[in-house]
Amino acid sequence: MSSFSFRTRAKDLAWLSQDQFDLLVIGGGITGAGIVRDAVLRGLRVALVERRDFAVGTSSRSSKLIHGGVRYLQQGDVGLVMEAAHERRVIRRLAPHLARPIQMLVPAHSRSTYAKLSVGLWTYDRMARVLDEERYHMLDRDQTLALEPQLRSKDLYGAGLYYEYLTDDARLVVETLKSAAAGGAAIANYMEVTGLAKENGRVSAAVVKDALAGAELTVRAKTVVNAAGPWVDAVRCMEDENERPRLHLTKGIHLVLPRERLPVSRIVVMNTPDNRAVFVVPHGVVVYIGTTDTDYDGRYDDPSISMEDVTYLLEAANASFETDRLTPQEVVGAWAGLRPLLHQEGKKPTEISRKDEIMVGPAGLISIAGGKLTTYRKMAQRVVDMVVERLADGERRGDKQGDSERALLSGGETGDDVDAFSTKLKSRWPHVPADIVERLVPLYGSNAERMVEGMAADPMLARRCAPGMGVTRGEVAYAVREEMAMTLEDFLERRGRLFLWDVNNGLTAAPEVASLMADLLGWDAGHMDAEITSYRNHVREVKTFLPELDTVTTARVAHA
Ligand code: FAD
Repeated sequence: MSSFSFRTRAKDLAWLSQDQFDLLVIGGGITGAGIVRDAVLRGLRVALVERRDFAVGTSSRSSKLIHGGVRYLQQGDVGLVMEAAHERRVIRRLAPHLARPIQMLVPAHSRSTYAKLSVGLWTYDRMARVLDEERYHMLDRDQTLALEPQLRSKDLYGAGLYYEYLTDDARLVVETLKSAAAGGAAIANYMEVTGLAKENGRVSAAVVKDALAGAELTVRAKTVVNAAGPWVDAVRCMEDENERPRLHLTKGIHLVLPRERLPVSRIVVMNTPDNRAVFVVPHGVVVYIGTTDTDYDGRYDDPSISMEDVTYLLEAANASFETDRLTPQEVVGAWAGLRPLLHQEGKKPTEISRKDEIMVGPAGLISIAGGKLTTYRKMAQRVVDMVVERLADGERRGDKQGDSERALLSGGETGDDVDAFSTKLKSRWPHVPADIVERLVPLYGSNAERMVEGMAADPMLARRCAPGMGVTRGEVAYAVREEMAMTLEDFLERRGRLFLWDVNNGLTAAPEVASLMADLLGWDAGHMDAEITSYRNHVREVKTFLPELDTVTTARVAHA
């Protein structure tokens, strides 16, 4: 069984090269993670490889909402509303810390918009079987301003208030993968598929390159699923170089600002001149604004953000709130992601369907693209159904129906009330500072209990990586030992999320985190320095939409 750790990497890689798997999944985003978990729950022998870190692609760059499906109602897609609403309930049951209800306020600026909103939300409540305590409310102008006093009051008529669920996309991927590993899947990051091998005209193996050690190995599998997100077409071409591209990539960016500059208490929808709904989401000491939807043909890794993208979102906020004018210089963080959508001739980015599609290539490669985080479990089920059908190996392995609706995700044992779980940990271990517990529970769910217990037993583990910051040595050790964090960026960006939610992008803690990781992973001084430099460059690069920010960031880094 895999331990999901650097400690057994060599053993896991040997396993990958020796076994023949029922299924090999290419890509460690949410789509691949869901598939590997579903397949393991059905008793298949499964492997997954990811070319960089888990969730490094689109799955750490979303708006982080588990949609209830209101938007699909606007598009008249009743099937999708029902599916999204159902899946939202399921994710909340499987991992309550990764599906936290949050109010969404939709301002209306005329009586007719207000009336339409009211009918839409009424219909949605019934169709989606919304819980009693999460039912919608219509607010008049004064009630709206009482909730969000900074909203621009001119022409405001009222608002609709309903619930969406907030998730943490990269953590959802990691918890899903950890569950699959615990069930017996072989999973490795920094392993890139560079080619596919065939036997009797069928894809039978993948050539995989270890991006950390440089070695190459072959993973044999009876079926291969391509869940490579924006890279789906590139992997399809490994099967047959004549494959016609099917994807249409669109880019969406988000900006992070200090919460004091846009002090909202819930998600607030803002309108743009082109009539798209963008929103601002509160998250601890920051808020984020998103998103854009534009055609994209640049680099796939870490897509860049243009000044035009930034202006578009800031203008929406400036038009919607009466706070002092927000400027690009105040942006403390940002991310950009690519939607791997299926091309539809003549459609603009916003018009292209978000539905997923499964494609089967001439040599049997199964590719999946499109879809959402919200419906990842259902997508996985459909793909694994197809895999099982193809495993005509006499024994019909995988006939067993997995219980992907009920088997809790790693970290999912907090119970419904995640805050109560946090309170329980604080009272059981009063010597561990409360802010540390409050940081760990939303990120790691019930796994935080073992971390806090460890810190109570060994106060060195509770030592902060920088003064005043909640991130501790214990958390870093956990991410390396139990979550396969292999680089400084893996921890700061996708396990501990400081890249997003810390106003200094985790730079203050970076030297201490790197030094700890060096001890755990056996890096020498040169390797450790390279990790810090690379992370600093990464932070700087995300803000290169502002040339003058280069110097601002450099000054900040020098301070850290
Ligand atoms: P990815 O996450 O990109 O994963 C593919 C992985 O494959 C990558 O990690 C990549 O490194 C790996 N890979 C590629 N090639 C190879 C190879 N040769 N070998 C090995 N590995 C390889 N959905 C929601 O439900 N709610 C939202 O709020 C939401 N907001 C969004 C906002 C934006 C701006 C965007 C862009 C999307 C949003 N989505 C949202 C959609 C959702 O994020 C995506 O549908 C989902 O993350 C796609 O996941 P994926 O696993 O298919 O792709």
